[in-house]
Amino acid sequence: MPATEVTALDRHECKACGYVYEPAKGSSNVPAGTAFTDLPQKWRCPVCGAPSSQFVNIGSVENPSGFEENRGYGFGVNTLTAQQKNLLIFGGLALGFLFFISLYGLN
Ligand SMILES: [Zn+2]
Repeated sequence: MPATEVTALDRHECKACGYVYEPAKGSSNVPAGTAFTDLPQKWRCPVCGAPSSQFVNIGSVENPSGFEENRGYGFGVNTLTAQQKNLLIFGGLALGFLFFISLYGLN
């Protein structure tokens, strides 16, 4: 995922009043999905009226690419582990059952 899309999701906090501009939600007179860097130069904090230069980048709510990578990675590992567990469990049960039957047969 391009870095520009991650940057577009970055939230910005007003240093004057603590208002947080979230690109996903937009703001007054700003449609949702507008990156902070795409805000009009005249845009000001809707709470205290501070100019956009008074806002600091506090990062995105979540990193979409990283989140997707982690979820896919974890899901794959969990599936593999479950399969391995099933193999071990049922394989062990089968071996134990055969072992038990063989002992039973000997006796
Ligand atoms: Zn403010």
